[in-house]
Amino acid sequence: MKVVTTPREYQSLIADYQNEGQSIAFVPTMGFLHEGHLSLIDKAKKKSDIVVMSIFVNPTQFGPNEDFDSYPRNLSRDKVLAEQYGVHIVFIPKVEDMYPNNRMFMVNVLDRVDVLCGASRPGHFDGVATVLLKLFNIIRPDTAFFGMKDAQQLAVVKGLVESFHMPVTVVGCPTVREADGLAKSSRNVRLTDIERTEAVHIFKVLEKAKHDYEQGVLAIQSIQSTVLNELNRYIKNGSIDYVEVYTYPELNFQFETANQMIIAVAIQYSQARLIDNVVIEL
Ligand code: AMP
Repeated sequence: MKVVTTPREYQSLIADYQNEGQSIAFVPTMGFLHEGHLSLIDKAKKKSDIVVMSIFVNPTQFGPNEDFDSYPRNLSRDKVLAEQYGVHIVFIPKVEDMYPNNRMFMVNVLDRVDVLCGASRPGHFDGVATVLLKLFNIIRPDTAFFGMKDAQQLAVVKGLVESFHMPVTVVGCPTVREADGLAKSSRNVRLTDIERTEAVHIFKVLEKAKHDYEQGVLAIQSIQSTVLNELNRYIKNGSIDYVEVYTYPELNFQFETANQMIIAVAIQYSQARLIDNVVIEL
């Protein structure tokens, strides 16, 4: 595995592969790798000759009072895991290499961001879209892999690629979970024991809502209020940030279920904000 830290270094390395016509798959991450990230590498390996992973905790997607400084980091462990999983190139840039002119340009996302995490994290998806525009320009991937756990991010990335006519195929991958159903996340290490115990109910409640839907509960408001009531029963040590149901990936509100809908939840715990979702299809 090659470890590369600057865009220039990456571009000279990749030129040979491109000349040989090798396909490039890209897995962007913020590091502190877990099985969720590793599942994306697995998918990428199956689709492409060369797998590139980036590890970059992107400052522009964190709000002033968010956890940029304390975001969990462990680069030496990440490099070992990436190599074990068959990543060919890991790109670990510095902030000044990604933002050579500081914030001279930022992508302003105007759709799909006034709900869910976008509503509670103003500017977050501007930062995500900006860094991905930069990363796609540097890495030049044929395909890029994203987790459905961050469903709104995936919806924004799909919109970004379409809107800017970027020659990359975006692939959404299923959420990887702990044995008890909790979605794997770098932030799970920040849960206290009691928070971890009750957090298991998040996915259980979502799964039950999906089941109810499959049994014929079609009214959005009924699905939403059942999820909220159930979460209120179990979540005693965190606060429910949102329970929302939208069309996916457009993230529009609708009274009755449409083709593909998402039920999404965010819970704020003392040191970690957890998100999860299920997608239901007609
Ligand atoms: P992050 O490092 O949290 O920015 O995540 C990097 C990529 O891994 C994103 O595309 C995430 O959606 C994806 N990811 C994070 N957690 C999971 C998970 N539990 N299952 C599948 N993909 C995940």
